[in-house]
Amino acid sequence: MAGAMAGAIETVRRVGDLRARVRGWKAEGLRVGLTPTMGALHEGHLSLVARALEATDRVVATIFVNPTQFGAGEDFSTYPRDEARDGALLARAGASLLFAPPVEEMYPPGFATEVRVSGLTDCLCGAARPGHFDGVAQVVTKLLNQAEADAAVFGEKDWQQLAVIRRLARDLDIPTEILGAPILREADGLAMSSRNRYLTAEERAVAPALARALTAAAAEIAGGRAPAEACADAAAALQAAGFRAVDYVDCREADSLAPVQSAPPARPARIFGAAHLGRARLIDNLPVPGAGR
Ligand code: AMP
Repeated sequence: MAGAMAGAIETVRRVGDLRARVRGWKAEGLRVGLTPTMGALHEGHLSLVARALEATDRVVATIFVNPTQFGAGEDFSTYPRDEARDGALLARAGASLLFAPPVEEMYPPGFATEVRVSGLTDCLCGAARPGHFDGVAQVVTKLLNQAEADAAVFGEKDWQQLAVIRRLARDLDIPTEILGAPILREADGLAMSSRNRYLTAEERAVAPALARALTAAAAEIAGGRAPAEACADAAAALQAAGFRAVDYVDCREADSLAPVQSAPPARPARIFGAAHLGRARLIDNLPVPGAGR
């Protein structure tokens, strides 16, 4: 293979080309996996490819920075984009195809259909970023219909997003199995994220306080402390550590995302946090140990 092309991955930009490749594999009796991303890939994204390869024979990764899930004043225009680097990483991780459509392929003139998952999107990031999950539901519904994959993998880093996607796939009878993959973290506990690259060195040193604060609150709630108090303390700890603003620290049931008031929780529960540090908005979540098990 020519040096300049080493590590390149076959890339398609049209839905018709994606479908032709996937249908070809299926005709050979192969199972196909899908890993949707917005690019600027890190090890967390590549772990989704590895998870998909456990469940399927060929993996299609997608890179699409979806304009409809960004609010006014958010980072759509500055979101990091480096398709050549991402393609090489995906090839090395074992993906077979990259689907990287232009915006007009996804939203041609006259596009008019919305997808809204109610209830699950009222809290947490849904409350902090109005309209965000409508954009996510819209684009993921499209990607699932476009790819016709047997399984699609999404990260638990975006736990609420995973819950929304499971629900829409069930409600809309989309026959793709939705799989979750665990959160990959840096050595100091910071959840890997494309947005971590927005952090200055000083902010990067502060960032692990988010996982630490959530871990401490989860342990307190497991030990019987009222969730509201533990979450309020965690939010205060984030402000004290140098976070600019805290969108939420909240304890919710893992599946329904209903608020948890009692401690220790009766059913599986997680603690969720979102906070702004410099230019970055960081999110994280983790289980309340022992809850409901
Ligand atoms: P994004 O490119 O941020 O839209 O993320 C694409 C997919 O990667 C989503 O399913 C995320 O939940 C998942 N993801 C992002 N960061 C991580 C991480 N640190 N560990 C596991 N999955 C992740």
